[in-house]
Amino acid sequence: MFAELPLAPMDFSIPDEYQDLLASFRAFLTREVHPVEEQYAVHLQDDAFTEEMRQAGLALRRTSAGLGFYGAHMPESVGGWGLSNLGYTLLVEESGKSGLRFASFVLGPPNPEAPTRVLMELPEHLHAKYIEPLVRAETTMCFALTEPEAGSDAQAIRTTARLEGDEWIVNGRKHFITNGAYADVALVFAVTNPERRADGGITALLVERDAPGFIVGRNQKTLAGDTNQAELIFEDCRVPKENVIGEIGYGFQSAMRFLNGGRAYIGALCVGIADYLIRICTEYAKDRQTFGKPIGKYQAVQWMLADSALEVHAARLITYHLAWLVDRGEYPIKESSMVKLNNTEMVNRVADRAVQIYGGMGLLTEGPVERIFRWVRMLRIVEGTSEIQRLVIARSLGL
Ligand SMILES: Cc1cc2nc3c(=O)[nH]c(=O)nc-3n(C[C@H](O)[C@H](O)[C@H](O)COP(=O)(O)OP(=O)(O)OC[C@H]3O[C@@H](n4cnc5c(N)ncnc54)[C@H](O)[C@@H]3O)c2cc1C
Repeated sequence: MFAELPLAPMDFSIPDEYQDLLASFRAFLTREVHPVEEQYAVHLQDDAFTEEMRQAGLALRRTSAGLGFYGAHMPESVGGWGLSNLGYTLLVEESGKSGLRFASFVLGPPNPEAPTRVLMELPEHLHAKYIEPLVRAETTMCFALTEPEAGSDAQAIRTTARLEGDEWIVNGRKHFITNGAYADVALVFAVTNPERRADGGITALLVERDAPGFIVGRNQKTLAGDTNQAELIFEDCRVPKENVIGEIGYGFQSAMRFLNGGRAYIGALCVGIADYLIRICTEYAKDRQTFGKPIGKYQAVQWMLADSALEVHAARLITYHLAWLVDRGEYPIKESSMVKLNNTEMVNRVADRAVQIYGGMGLLTEGPVERIFRWVRMLRIVEGTSEIQRLVIARSLGL
């Protein structure tokens, strides 16, 4: 009976259509993004991300949206391609591999400024008003869950929303909100039933920036540099009753779907960045001489790069596997947490080795790895810390 089993039932190859998509995206990066990166290279070395640079990034984003890349993950009904999770995962990996700072503008996820599929849970008549401009990159959004007293324990949020006639009245304070200062619309999570909290008591509302009582607080600078966080304050902020994502009271579930759905993309970004670091470190190790030999001839340096290559390979496989599970219609909570945990920790180890291989040049702000080293540190905290991912994995073991 076993003699009849197919010889190679598992297929690890990337489908041809996706290879073509990647080639076209690579060409776009070279043609459009690379010149902008060159233009602002000096500012990037100084970690000074000016308003002019942000506008240049937004212009690249609009070009990308026109070509279809930016909103490709969104359904066709709102202007996307309905691209599979694996397809978008490959694009995100490619953007990381390019090593281009401005590449972060041209794709949607895992950037919280970009349209997310969770928005499809808005009433259908609001899709053209809110989702389509986001897909065309005419507007941006933010995801406002975290509060000063509620980060990992997100269901402890204190922001409230109560219905008054045809409007929600929102009161509270969010912080660390990426793109909070610029977003045209904010996806805001508020308590609508304090007794029920995560089980039917938290509602997700789409709030316009111009809504009365919507206040942008101070900017919050982080170690990661130009990542653009802000406080948002809601003082009797008025939101139309219909601007609810999903069911009233079940916004927490929408938040978890957003975070869970994005794990393959964060994972792919880590793989791409780590791949880039290995590439530049290998070149540097062939070039940089000490004691009359290239440092790449020393086993100590070879082992650092060998360990990094192994870790990236393993991370890539679990990321593609996660994307494959999502595309099969599964809701893989455990595998999502594993990818988030493994890949964000992995890229930090790879970046640390990259600094070591570059020596003093690794610490120089004008060198090629210092900024990346600082930036990837953030990934172990945002969208669920490494500890919270371990908690989720442990729960899946029945603990
Ligand atoms: C650059 C940046 C961008 C961000 N962007 C956004 C955004 O766009 N939208 C948004 O809503 N939020 C955003 N955040 C917030 C981010 O999601 C939170 O910072 C994160 O979830 C951790 O919450 P906290 O900072 O309150 O840490 P805390 O929850 O206070 O955790 C502190 C420490 O305790 C550990 N810990 C907590 N609970 C447990 C537990 N049960 N078991 C074990 N260890 C535990 C944590 O792992 C961590 O090490 C952003 C944060 C940063 C820094």
